[in-house]
Order: sequence, then structure tokens, then C-alpha cells
Amino acid sequence: MIFEYAPAPESRSVVGLRQTYDLFIDGEFVPAQGGEYVTSLNPADEEELAQVAVAGAADVDRAVAAARRAQETVWGRMSGAERGKYLFRIARIIQERSRELAVLETLDNGKPIKETRDVDVPLVAAHFFYYAGWADKLAHAGFGPNPRPLGVAAQVIPWNFPLLMLAWKIAPALATGNTVVLKPAETTPLTALVFAQICQEAELPPGVVNILTGAGETGRALVEHPGTDKVAFTGSTEVGRQIARSVAGTDKRLTLELGGKGANIVYDDAAIDQAVEGVVTGIFFNQGHVCCAGSRLLIQESIAEEFLPRLKARVAKLRLGDPLDKNTDIGAINSAAQLERIRELTDTADEEGVERWSPARDLPESGYWFAPTVLTGVSQAHRVAREEIFGPVLSVLTFRTPEEAVTKANNTPYGLSAGVWTEKGSRMLWTAERLRAGVIWSNTFNKFDPTSPFGGYKESGYGREGGRHGLEAYLG
Ligand code: NAD
Ligand code: MN
Repeated sequence: MIFEYAPAPESRSVVGLRQTYDLFIDGEFVPAQGGEYVTSLNPADEEELAQVAVAGAADVDRAVAAARRAQETVWGRMSGAERGKYLFRIARIIQERSRELAVLETLDNGKPIKETRDVDVPLVAAHFFYYAGWADKLAHAGFGPNPRPLGVAAQVIPWNFPLLMLAWKIAPALATGNTVVLKPAETTPLTALVFAQICQEAELPPGVVNILTGAGETGRALVEHPGTDKVAFTGSTEVGRQIARSVAGTDKRLTLELGGKGANIVYDDAAIDQAVEGVVTGIFFNQGHVCCAGSRLLIQESIAEEFLPRLKARVAKLRLGDPLDKNTDIGAINSAAQLERIRELTDTADEEGVERWSPARDLPESGYWFAPTVLTGVSQAHRVAREEIFGPVLSVLTFRTPEEAVTKANNTPYGLSAGVWTEKGSRMLWTAERLRAGVIWSNTFNKFDPTSPFGGYKESGYGREGGRHGLEAYLG
């Protein structure tokens, strides 16, 4: 007898969706001056969730002016201990409203509730708690006896971890005495707008946090605005390059967190079942919409024959479907555009003779979906070995010696993350020393903690977010 899972949907009644959302400027929700709105969808069924204002140049002006005023008259003058109290308060309200935030994030983004509930939102609260603790200890952070805030930060974030990327950007900026104007991604603005309500609830002084919604043009107007002191961006390498060009020649500080093509190296002595589990989370967590995803599996040739069937058996057990169902492992692709990119890249693999495998299953009829996919017979020259797919697609390559593993892992324009699976400590350290990646996980993958710095080498960007290191990007 086969036992099936019964549906276990999380209730969405905890979310009070508004029909329209305006911009959050100087502590209030105000319409965009251009009067334009865009729709945010639920990518799992294409339901229209809400209309969200599109900020133009005049709104950017207003928000930057509000942030400047707040920084100079209130936030920059406040003691660190006082700033810390606000951040602790925000962290506690996030915890209190965690179910609402998790359900809303799942609706707007398409990622499984299991992840928003157990990963995204707890990490968001943890980031605010962590940086709240730094606010009155900045003189002891190793950046001189009297480190100063930069001023106003322009921050642009992507759609893959909407609220978590907001926390990574806003918590360290505020702890160090900066004020911010943040633009969430156009497909996932809703949790940022609830965060704006949380700032009101915490009685954060007006202008300290401003949220401007809109698409690429709004982002461009914000990062090009001459009235800010710092630009922080997470997103595609292409847009990151444009931003680096526009910031060059100004005295703004810049941090960029861009794409990745992380390698998960599995040596022949690794604990196989744990490695299978780690490789699966490494690429299928958050539908593979993860810049530090382990999108390339490098498996030692001598165990490939044993490993791959076990890997496929595990992937076949992943449950794809309703993101609000508590048993769902793989949710929806965030947008039609992203689905198109994933299809385009995996189609090139077919043309190049790569072998494609997905478990047999039907995909939901509405919404944006892509079955978990394992590509074997991949060589270094294939596009799927070099380009970031940003979807649930694993490219498998093999190696014979540790030297070959390292050479292949480093053979990428990116350098964000890597994983190493081995029982031997010496082999682990030997490998980690030679990998050019900002984060290296050992016998685990996709582990995040606010105390730990995160960031890239090469085309994955520069600067670090998280930990004590993350303070530096906001201190003069
Ligand atoms: P994107 O870089 O276009 O968008 C990221 C953010 O930048 C969004 O808020 C967007 O509105 C804004 N933006 C777009 N153009 C801008 C501009 N000229 N100036 C300022 N801001 C601008 O990313 P995307 O199109 O959503 O995704 C494309 C690819 O980027 C993905 O396939 C993936 O490879 C990569 N990506 C990486 C991350 C990451 O976490 N590193 C996140 C999302 C996407
Ligand atoms: Mn959406």
C-alpha cells in the first residue's frame, strides 16, 4: 500500500492584502507623482495580488531628501544604544508578524511556505537582532575608535529572497547610523511594503527607511541620484556592471552582490547519503533561484556510477506544487521572464548533446513551473557549465584527482560559493585553500547566519554583507 500526502495548505487569511500599495516616503505611504501602478502576481497561479506604485524621478528626489534630513537631524545624531533599541523593536515585530510575512512572501514570490517560514523570515529577524547588537559597539568593531556613518544609502534588491535581501541591506545600514532608500524587485514588492508598516509600528523616525517600488527604471533613477553616499546592489551581473559604470567617478561607495555558478565537489570518501542530500538542497532549495546555489556538481569519477542513481532517486521524491502546502519542496518559478531564461539555457544543452533527466510528473496548468532537472555528460565548454541558469537545474561534471576538481571548480567567471564533501579534514582544507569563492561550505550547503560574511570574487561582485565585515560597507 502506498501512502500519499494529503494536502496541507497554510491559510492565507493571516495576510490582509490591500488592493493598492503606495510608496513609503518620510514615514508615510504616498502615491507616486506619475500616478502609475504595476501588478504583482502570484507566480504559482498568475493571480493578481495587488497594484503597486511605480516611483519616478520626482519620487526618488523626495525620498532621498527625506533620508538626508532624517540622517542629519535625527538618526546620525542618535546614540548607538538608542538606534539599537529601534532595531531590536523591529526584530521583535518581525517575529510577531512572522506567519503573515511568510505567507505573503510565498504568495508574492512562489517559494514554498516551508522555506519562508523556516528559513527566510527567521533569518530576517536574526539579522535585525544581530545588527541591533552592534549599534552601540561600533567603536570596538575594528574600524577605528570613532567610525562614522556614510550618510544616505541607495539599495536595490532582487526577487529571490525579497525580505531577506532587504534585511541584509537595511539592518547594517541603520545600525551604523545611515538612512536608506530601498527599491525591492518589481515581481516581489509586497513584503517590503509590510516592512514599511513595521517601521511605522516601531515608531522609527520618519525618513530613516524609505521604500520605493518600481522596475529597472526606478532602480536606475535611484542609483544614479547624486544625493546619496552609498549604493548597494544585489542582482544580475549585467545590471551590476551598469551600476559600477554609473557610480565610477562619483565619490559614492559601492558594494555589488551578483551572480554565481557554485561548484559542489564530492570526493570518493564522502558520506554518500549526506552528500546526496546536500547536493539536492544546494541546487533545488528556492527553485535554484539562489546566487550561491551549487549549480555544478563535480563528482569524483570512481563514485559517479553509484552516486547518480541515488541522486535521481532523491530528486524523484521532491514534491513540486502549491507553494502554500506545508509539504511542498519545490514551488513556482518567480516570473514568466525567468522561466523563459531557464528554458532557453537548458534548450542549448539539448542542442549540445547533454543528457537531460527529470522525474516523470505533471506540472500545474497555470503559473510558472519548471521540473527539477539533472544534466549529465556536461563538459566545461557547455553553456550550462558556464552560465548561471538561476533555476532548478543541476549540471554534473566528473573529475579524477583533487587538482582536477579545483581547476574545474575555479574555471568560471564567478566566485561566490562552493561546497566540499569529504571525510578527511586535510583534504577539505587543501581544497578550500585553493578554491576562489567567497563562501565555502564543508559537508553542508546553503547555510546562512547573520554573523558570517557573505560575498564574491571576480564577477560575483565585491564587498561583504553579514557579520562584523558587513559593517565596514556602511562606515566612513
Ligand atoms: P536584475 O539585475 O535585472 O534585477 C535586480 C534588481 O535590479 C531589481 O530590483 C530590478 O528592478 C533592478 N534593476 C534592473 N535594472 C536596473 C538598472 N539599470 N539600474 C538599477 N536597478 C535595476 O535581475 P533579474 O532580471 O531579475 O534577473 C536576471 C538574472 O540575474 C537572473 O537570471 C540571475 O542570473 C541573476 N540574479 C541574481 C541574483 C542574486 O541574488 N545574485 C538575484 C536575482 C537575479
Ligand atoms: Mn509577485
